[in-house]
This record gives sequence, C-alpha cells and structure tokens, in this order.
Amino acid sequence: MTPDLDDAIALAGRLGRERFAPRAAGYDRSGTFPFENYADLREHGLLALCVPEHLGGMGATYRQYMLVAAELGRYCGATTLSFNMHSVSVLWSAGFCDDLDMDPAMREEHERRRTEMYRDIVDNGTLYAQPFSEPGSKMRTGPQAWETTATPVDGGWLLNGRKHFASLSGAADVYTITCTEAVAGREPSYADTLFLGVRADSPGFSISGTWDTLGMRATVSRTLELHDVFVPTERQVMPRGIFAQMARRWPHMFMTLCPTYIGVAQAAFDFTVAYLRGEVPGTKGEPRRASSTKQLAVAEMRVKLDQAWAMFLRAITEARVDPPRDVRMRAFSTQYTVMELSNEICRLAIRTCGGGSISRDFPLERYYRDSRCGSLMLPWTAEICLERIGVDTLYEPGERDGVVEAGR
Ligand SMILES: Cc1cc2nc3c(=O)[nH]c(=O)nc-3n(C[C@H](O)[C@H](O)[C@H](O)COP(=O)(O)OP(=O)(O)OC[C@H]3O[C@@H](n4cnc5c(N)ncnc54)[C@H](O)[C@@H]3O)c2cc1C
Repeated sequence: MTPDLDDAIALAGRLGRERFAPRAAGYDRSGTFPFENYADLREHGLLALCVPEHLGGMGATYRQYMLVAAELGRYCGATTLSFNMHSVSVLWSAGFCDDLDMDPAMREEHERRRTEMYRDIVDNGTLYAQPFSEPGSKMRTGPQAWETTATPVDGGWLLNGRKHFASLSGAADVYTITCTEAVAGREPSYADTLFLGVRADSPGFSISGTWDTLGMRATVSRTLELHDVFVPTERQVMPRGIFAQMARRWPHMFMTLCPTYIGVAQAAFDFTVAYLRGEVPGTKGEPRRASSTKQLAVAEMRVKLDQAWAMFLRAITEARVDPPRDVRMRAFSTQYTVMELSNEICRLAIRTCGGGSISRDFPLERYYRDSRCGSLMLPWTAEICLERIGVDTLYEPGERDGVVEAGR
C-alpha cells in the first residue's frame, strides 16, 4: 500500500467502527438502505476510492480496493457489499480496461467517457450500482447472451429486460447494466455484451418486488424493470465487447465480493474473542475463556480465518490480466474458501459463544445471516467454483469440447 492507501484503510476502519457498526443493527432490522453510511463515504471521498488520482480520486488499484473493502466489511457487511457494486463500475472501467486490447479510436473514446463519469462521481458524489443478475441466470452455465437487450436507435439504444438482486436499488443514481446488443443478422451472443450506465430517472426504468431476506438486508437488492429505456451512446461505461474480453482475461474481476465476507468472518472472530474474555459490553459474570473446549474452538476458528486471509492475500497480490492457469484456478479456490469459511467461522462463533450470544443485542447473529449469502453470489457460487477447478485441473485447454474458458 502507498501511504495514502494506508490512510484509506485507516479511514475505512474509523468510519466503520464509529459510524457504520453502531447503525448496522437498525438498518438490518428495518431492511432499509444505509443512506447515512453513504453520506459518510461520500463526504470522506471513498466513493472515489478507485477513481484515478489525476481525476480527483484516491486511485486505488485492485489490490488496494480489496484491502480497504475488507476493512469496511468488519463493521457492516451490507454496506460493504453494496459499496462493491459501486466501486467495480469504476475499477473495471479504469485499470482493468487499460490492460485490454482496444483500437486507438475506441481507447480515446473510452478515455473521454470515463473521465466524465469519474468527474461526476468526484464532483457530485454520484452513486453507481452493478446489476448483471437476471431471473434466467444464464451465467450459471457459462457465458451466454444476456436476456436484457439493447436495440440500436438514433443516438443510442433502447433497453428491455429485468435484473434481479440489484443491490442499491432505489439508492443508486446510475445502474451499470450488462445487456446483449441486437445485431442485425446475428444470433444474440455474449460477445455482443454492452455495459451501459442507466440513469435512475430514465423514462421506462422502474423497481419492483420486495427485499425481505435472511441476510444482507440493507443491500435492498430488488428487481429492476427496463421497458424501452433510452440510453445515449455517451453512457457506455465500457466499449463494445470489452466486458466479455475482461471476463476472459481478467477473471479476478469476479472476486471483488470476497472482502465483504472476509471482513464479516474477521468480525465474528473478534467478537468471539471479546465475548469469551468478558469484554463485550452487556455481558457479565465469569469470563468463559477458562473452558478448554472453548479454547480449542477459538483455535479452530483462528486457523480457518488464517487460511482464508492467506489465500485472499495471495490471490489479490498475484491477480493480473491473462493470469496463468494456476493463478486463475487459485482465484476460484480463494472465492470458494473465503465464502465457505466465512459462514463456517460465524457458525463456530455462535456455537462457541453459546446461547447468550444469539441475542439481537449482539451483532453475531447478523454476521451469521450475512455470511450465509457469500457462496450464493453468481457468477462464482461455491458449486461453480468447484466445478471450474475440477474441470480446469483435469483438462488441458482445448481437450474438452464445449468448455468455455473462465468468463463467469
Ligand atoms: C445479498 C445479495 C446481493 C446481491 N447483489 C447483486 C447485485 O448487486 N448485482 C447482481 O448482479 N447480482 C446480485 N446478487 C445476485 C447473485 O449474484 C445471484 O445472481 C443470485 O444469488 C442467484 O440466485 P438464484 O436463486 O438465481 O440462484 P441459482 O443460480 O439458481 O443458484 C442456486 C444454487 O445452484 C447452484 N448452481 C447454479 N448453477 C450451477 C451450475 N451451473 N453448476 C453448479 N451449481 C450451480 C448455485 O451454486 C447455487 O448454490 C446478489 C445476491 C445476494 C444474495
């Protein structure tokens, strides 16, 4: 980390400890969006965490973003998960795009567009969401054409379709939508993916359904409806075809949900230690740490947490464009490990602290519920990670017909 980014981690920690953690239970219970937290993030420049420095942001790289987000995750999982959706819209269109092939005209145009986008974030605190999930969940079986379509019209496109599980629904100013461009004479194709910024006030755009869930309640991830929504050409967040190229060549783009869940695991571990030492406010009586079974359980939690951190740190350090096969597979292993161990550590935390700890007076039951959501997140759910690792381990590239490389 540069000294500046060390400061960003410290800032995230301070905001998290002093503001987000005390508010987390309230937002969780009401299932409402943490607008106050976002006002704090905006005020302290964290909405521009990944915006390049020369445009007024903090210029965080992928690795730096992941570390700042992991720190935030210790205090409010839902805020951190939704913050991810904002941040990746910037991260992907910034440094990731610089690593990909574009012809000079395309690159120049992209530079102009993203400069405007980033200035808007820095100057106006504009908030982004990143909904790609669709009720048809095409991503389950690898890269396929999105059901949301973009039909070219004068000056832009008309969008039609639905996106479900859209975190920040109703809170974001812009939704970066993945969709398939309808190209005359061609079957819908993943290669024709467009990545477009849809403004929340666009005619034809609406939000439907409810969000009353087990965990990550304050992400308010409702459904977006798009009926003939006009998106001007200027609002391409990434040039034509670049999303598909990125998914293939920069697979770690999909690992950005990990920091939230490693943060939640860390929080559950820290709570357990404090609880067993009798340091949690509101707990009385004998410290429970003298029990050898509890000592063993805490040791087991620590081993699992260390395993998750070790893989996470390695994966974010070796992440790069066109990673070798082992590095690519380790990204899947890391996602699997972090998501599964996050929930496992929370499970052990409750079992170890005991019945008194499941009260809603404490954050542990929320960590447990939030942690359950990690391995459900497409495109890298736990099962999909295992499936990819199995196939990629046993087959050399090209040995199996129909296997699509990465990209999900
Ligand atoms: C809290 C939360 C916030 C979210 N926020 C966003 C967001 O902001 N933007 C966004 O785009 N999405 C978001 N999502 C959606 C998420 O990424 C998934 O799209 C969603 O959880 C899938 O739900 P589903 O019921 O369609 O599951 P399914 O796709 O039906 O999956 C159900 C189970 O089947 C397994 N499975 C599915 N396909 C395969 C396969 N091919 N091989 C093996 N196993 C498979 C999965 O691993 C999973 O365990 C969010 C989800 C949650 C829980």
